[in-house]
Amino acid sequence: METIDIAVIGGGPAGLTAALYAARARAKTVVFESGLPGGQIVTTDWVENYPGFPDGLSGMALGDLMHKQAEKHGADFRSFAGVEKIEPADLDFKLTVDDEEVLARVVILATGAVPKKLDVPGEAEFTGRGVSWCATCDGALFRDKVVAVIGGGDAAIEEAIFLTKFASRVHIVHRRDELRATKCIQERCFENEKIQMHWSRVVKEVKGADGKVTGIELGATNGDPDELLPLDGIFIFVGIDAKSDLVTDLCDLDERGFVKIDHNGLTSYPGLYAAGDVTDSDLKQVVTAAAKGASAAFEALRYLDNRLCSI
Ligand SMILES: Cc1cc2nc3c(=O)[nH]c(=O)nc-3n(C[C@H](O)[C@H](O)[C@H](O)COP(=O)(O)OP(=O)(O)OC[C@H]3O[C@@H](n4cnc5c(N)ncnc54)[C@H](O)[C@@H]3O)c2cc1C
Repeated sequence: METIDIAVIGGGPAGLTAALYAARARAKTVVFESGLPGGQIVTTDWVENYPGFPDGLSGMALGDLMHKQAEKHGADFRSFAGVEKIEPADLDFKLTVDDEEVLARVVILATGAVPKKLDVPGEAEFTGRGVSWCATCDGALFRDKVVAVIGGGDAAIEEAIFLTKFASRVHIVHRRDELRATKCIQERCFENEKIQMHWSRVVKEVKGADGKVTGIELGATNGDPDELLPLDGIFIFVGIDAKSDLVTDLCDLDERGFVKIDHNGLTSYPGLYAAGDVTDSDLKQVVTAAAKGASAAFEALRYLDNRLCSI
């Protein structure tokens, strides 16, 4: 069975940074990624809050640069290689990947998160037929059409602004009467004439006909009557769910399913570290994922050294 020092599971910003630090320390480091490296950030058009890029850069470019840097320093990448199982094997971990087994001395879990669904009638039926979670991927399909963005955080508002490049009208539906998004993003949103706000509203149903979305039924959280909003597409940005299923039986999770870590990235299981959006840390951004990836790798290397010294 192949044996590696550090298995990084997930090739988003947290995993890519952990791999960079581990590989530069000359640990045999393999990144297992179920798709292509980059993570969630490749689904956004423009990132303007990652330090070192004053003019911003595309999410795709940022993911690609992080991948190249980790690979240049010796990290080995296995793409389309989703880890299916992690089992303890003495002090090591046995990973099942594509029905093959790999032994890792240390695991850094960086499996990130997936966007939450609304769980309303019509959402599943019209996914890919007008319901989307990726403005960069699908925005251009709505040129001169009317769309709604659901959510009030940074991702929702940034993506709504991006969608105004294509759509004739972008409705923002938010369940509260104020946005959570960073103030400078809000300012750009309120200045944009194509955007119309729908405060204190929730989506009750996605309506469609002939295999495509035709509108959404909105309920009010402030006692107003329900209303039907005719449109062609709906983009959902209402938060994320942790991808922590691999470690449910191995380490402690919080009540929402995020992996609990200490300030160095150690989980409740020795030798198992975690970083980025899969963890219970508050700010879920590229810069924090990268920083936590670096910390987890640093601690994982120290743990590995101590283990080897005590043999
Ligand atoms: C639309 C949108 C816009 C955003 N805009 C910004 C922004 O402007 N600035 C900012 O800082 N942040 C932004 N973010 C947030 C940022 O993308 C995330 O905080 C960051 O990507 C988290 O990195 P991560 O490495 O922890 O997880 P992820 O990016 O989620 O990466 C996890 C990776 O693990 C892989 N994976 C999952 N399970 C397995 C498995 N079993 N085996 C192998 N691989 C697996 C996934 O395929 C994925 O590639 C945005 C997010 C979204 C969705």
